[in-house]
Amino acid sequence: MDALAPYAADPRRSRGRIHPETAPEGRNEFQRDRDRIVHSGAFRRLEYKTQVFVNHEGDLFRTRLTHSIEVAQIARTVARRLRLHEDLTEAISLAHDLGHTPFGHAGQDALNRCMQPHGGFEHNLQSLRVVDELEERYIAHDGLNLCFETREGVLKHCSPVNAAKLGEVGRRFIEHTRPSLEAQLANLADEIAYVNHDVDDGIRSGLVSVEQLLAVELFARHHREVVAGWPGAGERRQVYETVRRMINELVLDLSRRSEVLIAEAAPGSIDDVRAAPPLIAFSDEVGARAAQLKRFLFDNLYRHYRVLRMTSKAARIVTALFDAFAADPRLLPDEHRRKAERNRHRAIADYIAGMTDRYAIKEHRRLFAVDEA
Ligand code: MG
Repeated sequence: MDALAPYAADPRRSRGRIHPETAPEGRNEFQRDRDRIVHSGAFRRLEYKTQVFVNHEGDLFRTRLTHSIEVAQIARTVARRLRLHEDLTEAISLAHDLGHTPFGHAGQDALNRCMQPHGGFEHNLQSLRVVDELEERYIAHDGLNLCFETREGVLKHCSPVNAAKLGEVGRRFIEHTRPSLEAQLANLADEIAYVNHDVDDGIRSGLVSVEQLLAVELFARHHREVVAGWPGAGERRQVYETVRRMINELVLDLSRRSEVLIAEAAPGSIDDVRAAPPLIAFSDEVGARAAQLKRFLFDNLYRHYRVLRMTSKAARIVTALFDAFAADPRLLPDEHRRKAERNRHRAIADYIAGMTDRYAIKEHRRLFAVDEA
């Protein structure tokens, strides 16, 4: 790895952990965070959580786990080029969806509706709750006790009301400052990963067609070139090659535009980065192309009637679980029931958010099917 840029996050100058620990040997503080995330229970559960397609719909679709790995891959590539801290970017990327409920956004929206009278439910805030409190793997403390920089990156969005309760890590949502470049990068790598893999999964599922996607400039241009160059390659390989080129265009544009913005702002430290406007960005032109693709996916994939059927089922499952537990917390497994004695609705939300798709379906059956125990 080239020398770190002066504006990169530096593990030797970390703002530290909530519970002070001795320095790790043989790895830096951000590597240690990455390792703690990979070994957490919440990380393993990502394998069985929906990205767009419910886990049992097919073995080839992205799950939150493979999505998170693709985000980390893209983010690390750009981090290396910009001389940012690769380990921090990887840690943030791998942790960014840890707070996601079962059934993707449908589950999160349903849980948020249930929690409205009790402080709401935000999945970014939940990701921070997972790493700060909910993982119970250490003798000395709850949570994974990660560095400030990793926690700052995990908390991508936060309402001002909740931010005010979080101390240091929430301050930027009140003062409207930025997080590290590593965090800004993980955020945009997330976008590059999902728009591209959703094109791939969307076509494979048969919910969107190549013909429809030809209305999207970013896809159409690369697809035309691929078909002209390899007319007999078959649709599947032509789509893979097209998606590969789309990822490449977005990654290169993001890298180049960010280099220009960083050179212009010339931040001398991570604190300069925090005070500056966003410095990781697409060019206007490529940003508009990415936005067109996002709109297409929203209209044609995320709102496809077959996805919406799943969405409405998911919302009903989450809501039914929540209502049943809220009405009678004695139905909760012991460990969660004990937590519910202190804060009933938050404990129920934590329990449901931690479920995988199939666990939620099973738990729903156990609660509502009379022939199930
Ligand atoms: Mg994501």
